[in-house]
Amino acid sequence: MIDRPIATKSRTREIQEKWGAQTKKSFGQNFIVEPGVVEKIARAASGDGKGVMIEIGPGIGALTQYLCEDNEEVIAYEIDPRFPPILQEEIGKDNLHVVLTDFLDVDVNALLKPYAEKHIPVRFASNLPYYVTTPILFKLFEAEEPIEAITVMMQKEVADRFEAAPNTKEYNALSVITQYRCTIRRIMDVNRNVFWPSPNVGSTVLQFTFRDEHPIKDEAKFFSMVKACFTQRRKTLLNNLQGWLGDKQQALALLEHAGIEPSTRAQQLSCADFIRLFKENYES
Ligand code: SAM
Repeated sequence: MIDRPIATKSRTREIQEKWGAQTKKSFGQNFIVEPGVVEKIARAASGDGKGVMIEIGPGIGALTQYLCEDNEEVIAYEIDPRFPPILQEEIGKDNLHVVLTDFLDVDVNALLKPYAEKHIPVRFASNLPYYVTTPILFKLFEAEEPIEAITVMMQKEVADRFEAAPNTKEYNALSVITQYRCTIRRIMDVNRNVFWPSPNVGSTVLQFTFRDEHPIKDEAKFFSMVKACFTQRRKTLLNNLQGWLGDKQQALALLEHAGIEPSTRAQQLSCADFIRLFKENYES
């Protein structure tokens, strides 16, 4: 039970005034000011709380405070040098370790390896600025060491793309690659009024857990093919694959092997169709 949540308007204002730490747009700073929301994210993100929770972008600690309650150990990576002292003092928990760095520069495999060796589960939680959502998530999706779950608040439109089904305008290479690697659970949609300052768009919290099965051996080549298929959405698969392979006959043969009409467009194929297209040609 937390006595004085940081995630309220009055406490956020108080901390900001005390430390002279106004929000910076350049770092995508929109703080959550609704304790019920951070509590729900922390509960969903933490599972049984055993192991390590890594938070990306703790800000002044709205979510961090709850993560420290729910997890044995929390490591928080923050880019803004004003925040580490605030977090240490205002949260005042021994199980919190703050690292001042841009998470995009972190070597994720090196970070995860010591935990993997000791079979300690690692989870991620974050309220991410929109401009780093995709690069940070892809950094985590490409990790070679195991991750228990990734729970992330993001712009609603970006969440829709991750979850998109074939034949919708949101469906793209990102949807296919993510759905190949992960199962996605929508934790909640969040109104823009729960942030300070309030952004122009709504947000959504998604949770990603990795699938155990890896049907494809050469995943890097598979991802490259998927991205190529969506290069020009209005063009046919034949056209886009021709660009990828540099040869029309090869592109035709690829589609024929998998029994796919050359005039089909990428957005009509499900994740299973892409797997079949790749396996029939490269791994059968
Ligand atoms: N977690 C806090 C909350 O929910 O109130 C703050 C969320 S705010 C949307 C995003 C936070 O991520 C900010 O504190 C910002 O400084 C930090 N941040 C932005 N880019 C980052 C990066 N590349 N690496 C680490 N932190 C980053």
